[in-house]
Amino acid sequence: MVRTAEREMGAKHFKLLAHTKETLKNAPVDEGFKNILDGLPDPVIIVGPDLRILHANTATEEQFGLRLFNESFYALTRQPEALACIRKAKEEGRSAETKILFSDGKFDSTFRFSVSPIDLPRIRTEWLVISMTDVSHVNDAEQIRREFVANVSHELRSPLTTLTGFIETLKGEASEDKGARSRFLQIMENEAARMERLVSDLLSLSKLEADERIRPKDTVDVCDVVRNTISVLRPIADRSGSSIELVGKENGLIVSGDLGQLTQVFHNLIENALKYGSENGTVMVNCLIKHNIDEILGPVACVEVTDQGDGIDAVHLPRLTERFYRVDKHRSREVGGTGLGLAIVKHIVNRHRGRIAIASQLGVGSNFSVMVPLQTQSPST
Ligand code: ADP
Repeated sequence: MVRTAEREMGAKHFKLLAHTKETLKNAPVDEGFKNILDGLPDPVIIVGPDLRILHANTATEEQFGLRLFNESFYALTRQPEALACIRKAKEEGRSAETKILFSDGKFDSTFRFSVSPIDLPRIRTEWLVISMTDVSHVNDAEQIRREFVANVSHELRSPLTTLTGFIETLKGEASEDKGARSRFLQIMENEAARMERLVSDLLSLSKLEADERIRPKDTVDVCDVVRNTISVLRPIADRSGSSIELVGKENGLIVSGDLGQLTQVFHNLIENALKYGSENGTVMVNCLIKHNIDEILGPVACVEVTDQGDGIDAVHLPRLTERFYRVDKHRSREVGGTGLGLAIVKHIVNRHRGRIAIASQLGVGSNFSVMVPLQTQSPST
């Protein structure tokens, strides 16, 4: 009697479990569970054993712009990596992960694609939860780092090759030739100086990146910085027959800044104007206050550096502040450039919460403007 009752209870329990398992294969996903998934920032999908989508959270529909409920997973993607990852998670009964690429026709995005069987206590649901995290920015950062290392190696290798080449020559055939020796030594000195500038610019950049989030606190009058920079550069201008003319305000452009870094900004810009400007030309430096500049609240201290050089084709302008980007590599090398000057300027200006604007016209010249917010208590506002 007791045994029969036990058996009946057992059978009932078994039926209940079988029923539960069957029901969960096709049942709608619990509303509470859906709400939790909808609150997640990344796309998350629940699929049944036949890969029918039982729920796609809000982030999925926003990301892919599709209504996916009740669709087959194939409506989202048929990428072999994704399907293999799902198969693996199903077969092994544990999480699997891969990377897949989605394209919206304009941009490619890389997603970390993770699949996990949903294991509820005492019940096997045969559902899978698929989550996708956009890792494009990580990939982009890796790519930028790889390119940077390749660029630095290349930039250092060319002067090094020149140096080792001349050392060999000096040890051999040119060892007795006094004229050749002094010519080669001069080239070697130039190449060594180029390497030194490169290393020093690289160190500046890495220090700047480390400090970029910390706002500079000293009170600096931009007019003083510009005046001092011009006096340092004037001998270089004189040597090339160029002149530097300073116009505009003579003081009162007070900003919260880092004196050394602002000096480097104006030094790089005025030096570039001399390097790439016309021979015997004039570099005009104008200090002024400007208002209503995009993305900056309040008035700004603005320094415009204008040259009368060949100008820069508009296609290059958006990329000029990238590291190692040069319009004419040969010309940059010839004038001792490292390709890092404007990248340094951009970082410093960013640290000062400012902006840089570049305008140029072929055959007329270029204008580089740096704008930094004026200190709020400045009387000249
Ligand atoms: P570089 O050390 O090569 O001068 P920069 O980062 O200072 O590197 O400048 C990047 C490139 O932008 C230069 O190689 C040059 O092609 C261009 N450039 C910069 N300033 C000027 C300018 N005033 N006129 C024309 N081209 C310029």
